Amino acid sequence: MRVWGERYNRDLQRYNLALRMIAHEARTHTICDWTGLPDDKIRHLYQSYVDEHGKRHVLRRRGPSPQSLAFFFGTARSRSEAAALVGLCYLLEVLPTSALDNPRRELPSVARGERLCDAFEMYQQLVPETPMTLEHLVLLVMTVSQGQEFEVTQCAGCGGVVVLDRSGLRRGNCTHCNEHRHIEADAER
Ligand SMILES: [Zn+2]
Repeated sequence: MRVWGERYNRDLQRYNLALRMIAHEARTHTICDWTGLPDDKIRHLYQSYVDEHGKRHVLRRRGPSPQSLAFFFGTARSRSEAAALVGLCYLLEVLPTSALDNPRRELPSVARGERLCDAFEMYQQLVPETPMTLEHLVLLVMTVSQGQEFEVTQCAGCGGVVVLDRSGLRRGNCTHCNEHRHIEADAER
């Protein structure tokens, strides 16, 4: 009876996480990775979600998952958003403290997936107009935890989190401090 109860609880956790990720318009394969549920179960859950909430809510999840890291470095705003999300993910232990060889295999778990959703939901509360989706956050978390394309450091000006793109040369200050420095430099001229 106890074994059955534990198994039931574990399954329930998987289903709850899957529903949470569906609500955030995650792709089926992403939900499979994090919940460990087979894709037919997830499609079934999608269908019940659509029946309950209407089709409008799932239209945006079509197409492939975002692949391009350029999204996070296109504008000063997206750089700040990426840095804030990374900071939040460290705080909530979504991101590991050391680099992983194969994040796609090592990172996903139900417990971490719940913390991933916590981080995303918290961020949405703070920045309701954000263009970042849960899929963007997954891409960010996977890339940062591999530690090859991004470098996470502290801003020399304020100590805040800065995410640097290793392929491009960017100064190690956060967007806010960079702007502040430009303003001061202009004022001195
Ligand atoms: Zn700063």
